[in-house]
Amino acid sequence: MKPDAASALIHHAYEPPAGFAAPQVGVFKASTVLFENVAAVRARDWRNKAGYTYGLHGTPTSFTLEERIASLEGGRHCLLVPSGLAAIALVDQALLAPGDEILLPANVYGPSRELARTDLARFGVTHRLYDPLDAAGFAALLSERTKLVWLEAAGSVTMEFPDLPGLVAAARARGITTALDNTWGAGLAFDGFALRIDIVVQALTKFPSGGGDVLMGSVTTRDDALHERLKLTHMHLGLGVGANDCEAILRSLPSLPLRYRAHDETARTLAAWLQTRPEVTRVLHPAFESCPGHAYWRALCTDAAGLFSVLFDERYTQAQVDRFVDGLQLFGIGYSWAGPRSLAVPYDLKAMRTDGALKGHLVRFSIGLEEVESLRADIEQSLKAAFA
Ligand SMILES: *Cc1c(COP(=O)(O)O)cnc(C)c1O
Repeated sequence: MKPDAASALIHHAYEPPAGFAAPQVGVFKASTVLFENVAAVRARDWRNKAGYTYGLHGTPTSFTLEERIASLEGGRHCLLVPSGLAAIALVDQALLAPGDEILLPANVYGPSRELARTDLARFGVTHRLYDPLDAAGFAALLSERTKLVWLEAAGSVTMEFPDLPGLVAAARARGITTALDNTWGAGLAFDGFALRIDIVVQALTKFPSGGGDVLMGSVTTRDDALHERLKLTHMHLGLGVGANDCEAILRSLPSLPLRYRAHDETARTLAAWLQTRPEVTRVLHPAFESCPGHAYWRALCTDAAGLFSVLFDERYTQAQVDRFVDGLQLFGIGYSWAGPRSLAVPYDLKAMRTDGALKGHLVRFSIGLEEVESLRADIEQSLKAAFA
């Protein structure tokens, strides 16, 4: 009997020859994963990476990206989640219980603090903010209730570089788990695990993607038991990532070190030039002495992300600063960073916890991959038009 057309197409007998090899990993897409037989179903453990159980628990494409990010960070295990913020939320949810407290740096990525202020509070978890430059003050905040400390280097708007060794030592002395948001360092600027940090999170959305077109996050660990805990919560929450998004990041990863250096070099040239401009009172870039925590950056890093902020003099109006940003031709106005296109965005200093130390109007620049001279000329024309 000739099979019906649908069955013939679904159950088609052709199998391509094995052994296909190409520079890039294949895109394996699945919700359902097929088993050889019932015994194989019974034998399979979804936690075990030796096999496949269900699309949510991994495919050859997602396993490959996990392994590469784990290597990049210097860790052993990696979990992928749909965004950088989801990576932060996963760590919080996996490790905290009612009555616990977490500590966040005062310059923490804003949505992480919002999560603590709202949902974590609702689940009975309190949070406190600490000054990332003051390890002694931080140590004094730690208590029996402190179960997790978030670290971020550098702060992604005000750019302070924390005293990471000092903060980690204080947390470790009390056996408190530390988690680093390593989006700025991208696994290249410094080695979080060498500093004995327990969990390293990254918004793969930024440097690893490099395209401004993919959202993803990673949670990397060295410790087996800690990974197991995170993986269980990852499973309970149903967090998964799409194979096409994994492939986009796998494709961008080999150029990550080259791109990181290119963003860095252009950003430093522009930041140095902006420092000489009369409109600018201060440049906030960890590699510059004018940046709080510069000495901590210098002790740990030689590279930096292509990200910096400038403070425009208080004598200007916000409207002038907005006109400057609007007048930029090559810079897009938008959040995120590490894509090919340069971006600029004004931030309201009053809404940030900087204890009044920073004055003026802050604009953050994320430097893309355009030629530095074109970017400099663009900033110059807009400075002249806005602040004349
Ligand atoms: C962008 C970013 C995140 C969040 O990443 P998304 O993928 O946009 O959710 C977290 N931390 C830092 C420092 C970031 O810059």
